Amino acid sequence: AKENGKNNYEFYNEELNQQLKRRMIIESYLHKAIENNEFSIHYQPQFNIRSFDMTGAEALLRWDCELGKIPPDEFISIAEETGLIIPIGEWVLRQACKDIHQFKEHGLKAFPISVNISTRQLMTPNFIERVRAIITEEKVDAKLITLEITESAFLYYEDAKDNISELKKLGVRISLDDFGIGYSSLSMIRNIEIDELKIDRSFLHDSITNERVYSLLDTIIQIGKKLDTKVIVEGIETEEQIGMLSNYHVYGQGYVYSKPIALDQLFKWYKRTFEK
Ligand code: C2E
Ligand code: CA
Ligand code: CA
Ligand code: CA
Repeated sequence: AKENGKNNYEFYNEELNQQLKRRMIIESYLHKAIENNEFSIHYQPQFNIRSFDMTGAEALLRWDCELGKIPPDEFISIAEETGLIIPIGEWVLRQACKDIHQFKEHGLKAFPISVNISTRQLMTPNFIERVRAIITEEKVDAKLITLEITESAFLYYEDAKDNISELKKLGVRISLDDFGIGYSSLSMIRNIEIDELKIDRSFLHDSITNERVYSLLDTIIQIGKKLDTKVIVEGIETEEQIGMLSNYHVYGQGYVYSKPIALDQLFKWYKRTFEK
């Protein structure tokens, strides 16, 4: 057993080393990603579940560099730790603003776009000024921008609260992402007027087979209704889930409708689907 333990330890060490190495390599590439033009945005459409009207889209960052395609779950945390999320986040917001004009040019109405914001960004002293500058420079109507924040922001509750009300004064919409999976979901919505709740997909996936989870999902939706907050359910993958959700007046997003896709693909998809 001792022998085994030692081997495990060495194995663990080796593994950790590899992870650290990869992290360092990714970080060094990440520094040059903007100037090398390696980022792009994929959009995932959102729908009114009952009417199947497209109501918006979420911007999801994609990075294709010499190392290959690196998923956001891998590089966003590195960007947050290094502070690179500040310029990267600004790039995403600006690009999303430019893309909003594209919708109009392609004969669609200007859909609201949801942009993910890291807590680190929200807590940057000049963040609100930067958001104001970008939407002004890009000539975008603030109400077409929804900022998705996660409840980790509420570890810094007092500051987050102030920053969110300042953002709301700009006219942008605020959405709480991954609602329900953190530990402070309810206290977050207690004092802050949030425009939208995005229910984490784990509540949806288990609700078909698990009565308890279904009750929770139902309750969260009712909370949204009572607070007059738009409710979006994430990660819809099956017709069965759509059927269950159509008992409610909620919005949805997920692979059953479309994966996140490049803007030109989204325009083609839209024409194919809605302009028959
Ligand atoms: P998120 O904001 O919760 O985004 C939803 C994730 O679920 C996306 O993964 C999306 O592709 C995926 N998804 C959509 N529909 C389905 C479905 O039906 N089933 C399943 N299993 N997954 C689905 P993605 O694009 O890999 O992004 C992962 C996370 O990276 C995001 O989670 C968000 O936290 C972060 N992220 C992405 N882009 C940005 C960004 O521009 N800024 C920041 N700060 N974070 C970002
Ligand atoms: Ca999101
Ligand atoms: Ca989410
Ligand atoms: Ca997430």
